[in-house]
Amino acid sequence: MIQVPWWHGSRGLETPTPRFAESWARRQLKPIMVLQLPTAPAVSSDTPLPWLTDTQLPAASCVPEETVGAYPLLRRYGVTAPHQQKIPREYFKMAGPERDEKIWALKRQMGKDLVVLGHHYQRDEVIQFADFRGDSFKLSQQAAGRADAEYILFCGVHFMAESADILSQPHQKVILPNLEAGCSMADMAKDADVRAAWDTLEKLGVTNVVPITYMNSAAALKAFCGEHGGIVCTSSNAGRVFDWAFERGEKLFFFPDEHLGRNTGFKKGIPQEKMVVWDPFLPLGGNTAEALQSATLILWKGYCSVHARFSVDQITKARIDYPDVNVIVHPECRLEVVQAADDDGSTEYIIDKVTAAPAGTTWAIGTEINLVNRLNEELPDKHIFCLDPVICPCSTMYRVHPAYILWTLEHLAAGNVVNQITVDETTAQNALVALDRMLSVP
Ligand code: SF4
Repeated sequence: MIQVPWWHGSRGLETPTPRFAESWARRQLKPIMVLQLPTAPAVSSDTPLPWLTDTQLPAASCVPEETVGAYPLLRRYGVTAPHQQKIPREYFKMAGPERDEKIWALKRQMGKDLVVLGHHYQRDEVIQFADFRGDSFKLSQQAAGRADAEYILFCGVHFMAESADILSQPHQKVILPNLEAGCSMADMAKDADVRAAWDTLEKLGVTNVVPITYMNSAAALKAFCGEHGGIVCTSSNAGRVFDWAFERGEKLFFFPDEHLGRNTGFKKGIPQEKMVVWDPFLPLGGNTAEALQSATLILWKGYCSVHARFSVDQITKARIDYPDVNVIVHPECRLEVVQAADDDGSTEYIIDKVTAAPAGTTWAIGTEINLVNRLNEELPDKHIFCLDPVICPCSTMYRVHPAYILWTLEHLAAGNVVNQITVDETTAQNALVALDRMLSVP
């Protein structure tokens, strides 16, 4: 077996370029992923591996996946298998510069008819085409503000495109470059399962409950909240949304991210014993009726496959390696990780905080690797690194490859709308109710 350090470059999966290799060595970083491959012909460090450059993106497993206890749950939902929407292979065989030039040409040709949105977690090869960068909610708002654009190409994942469709104008069409770009966390809370849990709670007499769904959820769950006096939250406003909800009910039912819910509940002073977890695969969600009746916060058993990987051990190591380090993590991390960090906040919060920090400061960041690497590139006056040196990129975000962007734009420019994401009118109206409630929260 050989170990192959992994990077994603303009041609897809590549060995590190000399520049990155030098940068890693200087900062004592490890590659973000190491593939274990059978013994293969020797390669030099600056030669892309031939069997990895023709990308239908082979399955790559992070090291050490086994150490992440939450992974069996991900497998139970059947959301780990890497899928790619089938498009002609010539799009993947095209040289990066040729492909990129075609995309730029199509962008120029379509002009104001097209707006490209890029989530912060997208790779540089994708983000270069974005007219706007942001987190999921900010991008949806930007989509709504560009009413002159007929096409909104959303380089993100499925639930984000749904939100953009809900918030955009009726004449606008939201396009997801690869239909397989979902979100493993959003997929952990199915509409039918959440409704069944709600019915069970009602039958047990667990009433006066306000449902809250995280932005990272299907439109159907936002609609469920709209129908049942509930609300949507983001990682920026979860605390204020909890306050809103407690003015209207005694208990909260939070989905799909157990960790954001617990972290927010902890900050609101809810005792641990008043927070229970609802596992949709178990009777009564794995609880007793009494536990559900006395709970203040019912947390859906779901998590982000990226943020659940961060650990207290990584923080301890960062503090040993860099005694002056500032540790900042996303609130989708586990409670003990957030407690061990110096600060936590949404993606936008992390960006603002690190950007505004004094030159010469050191930052260990617990969030998606593409964002951390971009901050490192754009803020050379600071020492910035990812808390987990072998962390995966978000594998579902990663399904948006420039080849899909080109394929999509060629169809759109020819008047053939592909990969449009639409939310039916009833669902959209109910979801909008929950989103509007969130926007009304001061
Ligand atoms: S980073 Fe986590 S929450 Fe965001 S899209 Fe990926 S899996 Fe979903």
